[in-house]
Amino acid sequence: MNITHLPHVVIVGAGFAGLETARGLANARVRITLIDKRNHHLFQPLLYQVAIAGLLPSQIAYPIRTIFRRQKNLTFQMGEVSAIDLDAKYIKLDGSVIAYDYLVLAVGGRTNFFGLDSLERDGLQIKDIETAVKTRNHLLSMFERASYEADAEKRKALLTFVIVGGGPTGVESAGALMELITHVMVKDYPNLNLKDARVILLEAGPHLINAYPDALRKSTLKLLQRKNVDVRLNVKMENFNGHRVTLAGGDTIETHTLIWTAGVKVAELMNNLGMEQATAGRVRVEPTLQLPGHPEAFVIGDAAFLVNGGGQPLPMLSTVAIQQGRGTAQNIRRMMRDMTPIHFHYKDPGLLATIGRNAAVARIWGISFSGFIAWMIWVVLHIYRIIGFRNRIIVMFNWAWDYFFYENQVRLITKE
Ligand SMILES: Cc1cc2nc3c(=O)[nH]c(=O)nc-3n(C[C@H](O)[C@H](O)[C@H](O)COP(=O)(O)OP(=O)(O)OC[C@H]3O[C@@H](n4cnc5c(N)ncnc54)[C@H](O)[C@@H]3O)c2cc1C
Repeated sequence: MNITHLPHVVIVGAGFAGLETARGLANARVRITLIDKRNHHLFQPLLYQVAIAGLLPSQIAYPIRTIFRRQKNLTFQMGEVSAIDLDAKYIKLDGSVIAYDYLVLAVGGRTNFFGLDSLERDGLQIKDIETAVKTRNHLLSMFERASYEADAEKRKALLTFVIVGGGPTGVESAGALMELITHVMVKDYPNLNLKDARVILLEAGPHLINAYPDALRKSTLKLLQRKNVDVRLNVKMENFNGHRVTLAGGDTIETHTLIWTAGVKVAELMNNLGMEQATAGRVRVEPTLQLPGHPEAFVIGDAAFLVNGGGQPLPMLSTVAIQQGRGTAQNIRRMMRDMTPIHFHYKDPGLLATIGRNAAVARIWGISFSGFIAWMIWVVLHIYRIIGFRNRIIVMFNWAWDYFFYENQVRLITKE
């Protein structure tokens, strides 16, 4: 069958939004080219587990070619899109030019260091596999170095871990790191006094997990404090130089570890589109997720800025990205039948964050839970949402093992 006459849909980004668009166009009479600079789809909500040595990268990432093996109207191309011409309708990929009839930009976000060069150089982040593994290697190395450090002050600095940002990633990382120390590292380092170890969570605002209802914010604070995480609210980090954190007001914390979870901005490609950008560089889209003046081009997921319902911008969440991917596939199908595209409405499935073993907070169907029930919901949902049957089984096994034996299985320091 000659398929070259079929409309060509180019999807840039195989994250949550791009993947869902591609799936929504399975069996449609289109040719799809799905492009990503990585060869795998990454389940970012569990990335902190890689950083805290709970899971291996291969357990939360899955090859894109394997996901789409059976989708005959799709071709995957690995590479980085460097430019887009919205008027001439083509993209540039590693020196070649690809023309499109429909374009879906689902390029996601990256860490925002707000211009603090020293933070970018010396701080750690949890954004992709490389940065999560780097964080894991660094954290584990601190215990190794502390184990032969004779000077008590220097040892204390090696065992002080600062996390900046009281959003879900900061909260989850702080809880998991504290558990790694108190349940696992104490067994690996019997001669190290791990009572010296501190996990400090800095949040510039007055609350943790700001987007959640007040009762859940308070439960989160209590759950973390119960695990001995030193939570400091209304405290702003000013600088980090690799061995000292300076706080606004001049106080300092001696540490070699700062994990920065307090800022996200849109992927670089979006800055060259010439379209209006809002907070974090997100591109303003029509309620149909189309680009103003370019109805054949869509921007979705973290890269898109759209105000919905209550007048608030849609959050940068996987659930938003997935629903927008579905909506975009539906709109492309409609446009091919000369029907007008429909507006996107986000259906909030609730919020979830875990603070370690048996401890999580959740708001689902308007009901708030915390503690063990919320944790069970979190476990089941995350296992269900990971791509690949084998990965689900392995993650479930890993967590069950950790749960019963208090053991993290992947305490490997590897070369980067
Ligand atoms: C540590 C962490 C924890 C999180 N926890 C949660 C959570 O618990 N719950 C939740 O709902 N959300 C969570 N999120 C947010 C969620 O992961 C994002 O909202 C979601 O991934 C956005 O989907 P997306 O498809 O827009 O972008 P992404 O999933 O980021 O995918 C973008 C893709 O585009 C590719 N790309 C970028 N630029 C180019 C280019 N120029 N050329 C080719 N390819 C390109 C990237 O390689 C990537 O694969 C978390 C995020 C992080 C980082």
